[in-house]
Amino acid sequence: MKSIQTKEGLKRELRRVYKAMDFVSENFLKEDRKRVAQQVYFDVYQALGLAWEFLGLQCGHWDGYKRKRDRKRVCRICGKIKGVKDQYYLLPAAGVKKLGKRSVPTSKKTFATKSKAQIVHDQVVFHGAFLDVDVHNSYKSTLFGKGREISVAADRYVTLRESGVKCSVDEHVVDIKIERPGSKIRKPPYGGFPWELSKEKLKHFPVIFRFDDNYRFLGLTIIRPVKNKSGGKV
Ligand SMILES: [Zn+2]
Repeated sequence: MKSIQTKEGLKRELRRVYKAMDFVSENFLKEDRKRVAQQVYFDVYQALGLAWEFLGLQCGHWDGYKRKRDRKRVCRICGKIKGVKDQYYLLPAAGVKKLGKRSVPTSKKTFATKSKAQIVHDQVVFHGAFLDVDVHNSYKSTLFGKGREISVAADRYVTLRESGVKCSVDEHVVDIKIERPGSKIRKPPYGGFPWELSKEKLKHFPVIFRFDDNYRFLGLTIIRPVKNKSGGKV
């Protein structure tokens, strides 16, 4: 991500935070104070620590790292230890937000459990839409009970949930489910290719296929039923 701060500006702000932290710790974090007062100063110190952490997110670690006595490498500007994961993300309010990088399965091995095979599993609710990214290597699953383990293939599985529609994309399948709240599913739904169904039956499905001159599949459109203001179908 492009840094919001210039190096000089960031250095200046960090210096102010360091100074304030030193001031609080040298003058107010003394043991002889009353506990209530002590707590207030401790809270101030913590808040400054948080400011330090957020300023550090904007640091490009431009001046490199210096080695500490405990062999840890520390940024010369923000004091962040090299290799330690950030607790927060810093995102621009305007423009495209980028969180993490695209990850794909990394191994041909089958791992003993999903947690050992997991590369990333993260979720975000973005302006009301729910997005879930689950990337893992192959693993053994006991989904069907002990002694009936199956191998789950390595995959990158992305799910978007928006106003009653769940759309999942993995390496082999694009799956769209219409979630119908209230209607309890007693048995699994039927499934079939269009050519297995009669024209009469097909008329129940508001689906338009997209294709080119050579009948190459280019996608499909699902027409959603229009709801009136009371929530019923028109
Ligand atoms: Zn830094």
